[in-house]
Amino acid sequence: MRIGFGYDVHRLVPDRPLVLGGVTVPFSKGLLGHSDADVICHAVGDALLGAAALGDLGAHFPDSDPRWKDISSLKLLEEVGRLVRSRDFRIVNIDATLLAEEPKIGPQVPEMCRRLAEALGISPEQVSVKATTTEGLGPVGTGEGMAAYAVALIDEAGQ
Ligand code: MG
Repeated sequence: MRIGFGYDVHRLVPDRPLVLGGVTVPFSKGLLGHSDADVICHAVGDALLGAAALGDLGAHFPDSDPRWKDISSLKLLEEVGRLVRSRDFRIVNIDATLLAEEPKIGPQVPEMCRRLAEALGISPEQVSVKATTTEGLGPVGTGEGMAAYAVALIDEAGQ
């Protein structure tokens, strides 16, 4: 078994859709980035790449590459899933935590788990998404941005 850790941050700005875990969440602002800036997908992708020692998302999907402009980060996750499987690893489970002062994402969490699972070719029971505020502290607390942490466990296929 191998474990990986991922972390990501994006700035919140007006006039962008807020996409989290592949789901568009109703909110007055969205995350700024080259792709859809889905901070949960990015943390999960980095956790998986880390578990397989395959570098990081920035190396595989550079923001200088127009192919990834405004792309759904679920597509990046699909590619990460393929990379991990190509090294004969199997995903055991994913656990992600969103740091956001608002909005509450509870109603959308089951759909996020379904979409993340589908992108990775695993079952929704293998995916956990949680959220917490930072009690008004720091850039997340003041609503300047959102952050996400994720861990991923993989093992060698066939074991
Ligand atoms: Mg990112």
